[in-house]
Formats: sequence, C-alpha cells, structure tokens
Amino acid sequence: MLNKLVWKEIDLSSLLHNFSILKDKVGKNIEVIPVVKADAYGHGARVISKFLAEKGVKNFAVAIIEEGIELRNCGIEGKILVLSPQFLDSISYLVNYNLTPVVSSLEFLSALGKYVFSQNIEFSFHLGIDTGMGREGLMLGDLDKALKIIEKYPSLKLEGLSSHLSSSENKFDIYNERQGEIFEKAYNKLKKLGYNIFCHFANTGAIFNFPDFYYHGVRPGIALYGYGDDNLIPVMSVKARITLIKEVPKDWGIGYNHTYTTKSPTLIAIIPMGYADGYRRDFSNKVHVIIKDKLFPVIGRVSMDQFVVDISSDPSIKIGDLVIILGRSGDLGIDAEKLASLANTIPYEILTTFGMAKRLGCIYKYEEKILSEATL
Ligand SMILES: *Cc1c(COP(=O)(O)O)cnc(C)c1O
Repeated sequence: MLNKLVWKEIDLSSLLHNFSILKDKVGKNIEVIPVVKADAYGHGARVISKFLAEKGVKNFAVAIIEEGIELRNCGIEGKILVLSPQFLDSISYLVNYNLTPVVSSLEFLSALGKYVFSQNIEFSFHLGIDTGMGREGLMLGDLDKALKIIEKYPSLKLEGLSSHLSSSENKFDIYNERQGEIFEKAYNKLKKLGYNIFCHFANTGAIFNFPDFYYHGVRPGIALYGYGDDNLIPVMSVKARITLIKEVPKDWGIGYNHTYTTKSPTLIAIIPMGYADGYRRDFSNKVHVIIKDKLFPVIGRVSMDQFVVDISSDPSIKIGDLVIILGRSGDLGIDAEKLASLANTIPYEILTTFGMAKRLGCIYKYEEKILSEATL
C-alpha cells in the first residue's frame, strides 16, 4: 500500500471528553443533542454518530434531509432532528425515514398535516420560531395560525419548540436577551394551551454563556469538535509528510508570483497539501507548521496541491518526516481558531473546509489506537 501523503486524524477519545464536558455543564436533566450536520463539521457524520450512539447518545440533529437519511441508513435509531427548511417533496421521506423536521412555515405545516391525514398515521414534529436570527423558523406572529393548523390535524403531534441565537458567542450582546424574551412568549403560549413541549434553544455559545436558555435540550455543534471553551479538546488533526527537501540560493523567489524571496541560502521542504485540501490560500506567508516539535514558517503562496516551508533552522529534517498542519505536538499547537484568525474566518469554516477535502483520507483513533476501516 502507498504511504499516505496527507490525512486527517479524528480522535474519538477527545470527542467523548468534549461530550462529557457538555453533559456536566448542562446537568443530567438536560439532553445534549449532538449536531452532526455538514458531515459532523468535517469529522465524518457516520462514524461520529455511530460512536456516540454506542456510548448511549440517542438523538441527533442534522441540517438537511439527506443527512438524516444517511444516519438512518447507518443504524441510528433515535430521533433525528432536521433543523433547516426542506421542500414539500421531502415530506414522504421525512415520514418514511422517521425524521423529525423543525417546521419553519405555515405552508410546510399544512402540507405535513394533509399528508399524515391522507396516510392515516401519527407524526411528530418540532416548531421553529425565528426569535431574531433572521433565518429559519416561523415569525411569532404566525404562531396562532400554526396552532390552528395543528388543531385541524390531530394526528400531527407538536412535540418540540426550537429557536437559534444569532450572537450566542457574545455574552454581552443584549440581542440574546431579546431573542430569549420572544422564545418565552412562544413557550408560555403553548404551555397555557396545555402542550407538554420539549424546548431546545442553546447552541455551543449559549451553553457556555446563557444557562437560562438550556430548557430541555441543547444542540452543541462546534463544542463537540473541541472549540468554544478552554476545557474542550480539538478532535481533528491534519497531517502530512515532506515529499521534497532542497537548498535554494539567496534571492530565490518561492511559489506563484514570488510573494516571498529568500534573504540567504535557504533549506526548503515541500509539503504535498494545498488549498484543494482545505489549506487555504489566505495562509500564504502567515502560518506555521510543526515538524519534530518545532514551528517552521510557510513561505510563498499556498498553491492547489503544495506549499513550501523554510526548514533552514533544522538541517536534520528528512523527506518523509511528519508535518503537523492542524494539531498538537508537545507544548506546541496549531488549532482551527488560530488558522481561522489568519484567514479572517471562524473555526467552523476551517474544519468543514478540511472536511470537504477528498484527498485527505480520514483516520479514526480511540484510546490512542487507530481503528481499522472494518470496525467503522
Ligand atoms: C449549526 C447549528 C447548531 C450548532 O451550533 P454550534 O454553534 O456549532 O454549537 C445549533 N442549532 C442550529 C439551528 C444550527 O444551525
């Protein structure tokens, strides 16, 4: 078998650690519903969900219906919330795969009611309220109309109420409070009408900043994967091996458009990874990698399939040596937060971009051992 040039490592022990931190944080009466949308933020939704299910997690949340079907097909048996709005033609699939939509419109709700009536079946769903995110969810003013539709179709079971914060990572943004007030209005109305309803509002930011928003369940995404609090451990690492080492003279331009020129004779290492692998072009001339427990600077432009590192300070480095692009080594670490700050983005985008990179195969580890493909 060929040696791997570039790969992602997903550490399931760290995932489990993060999950327990979240459980401890919210307390045992509040359900932690892992958000595994976008292929579990690039970590592999099938493996992540199956692993958590084996550890006793029942219910999950995804963004779109195909992601829900993927989880059902790999044996997830609990509730699967579909958070984002779907087309009306998804309704028979939602029912057949027993997925739980968070309904965002009166039109969808009516169509769902008609469908379950025509099939003579009961079906549970959650109602989403736009409390100020300006994205999915019903406007509060439409709640009465929604309740009329629900009354008209008794086999439609309103099981949950949901909303999403726009600025949860900012403890001092009063916008969160306003969203909370609108959510309370919706919740109180339903309580008064006798609905026994499961409320979920908090994402990662709210879990750490707004305990009042826990209600009955929380929906962490990024925290599971290791970001959002100092006690969490990043789950994904990205690694490569050096494919070429050589010395270039003083005044030698490196990479496309010579955005870097050597100031003295320089020992360079070629790393077989580029922006096609999620290593963004914005990192050019800004970022470092770790080789043999030391940091080395990336010089010149990151290209599609390669970038260049100045290794002049350590002539003992050899072809084939391990390069840590995202991850830790001894006291040194390069995490997605750091990379995001260099590319003017957020860790979510760094992780999902590595996640989309086809060339990066994925290795899963648990308790320091590499898991074989067959067990995954
Ligand atoms: C993505 C998402 C989450 C998870 O958000 P994090 O900030 O990653 O915890 C929760 N709820 C909804 C509706 C989402 O779209």
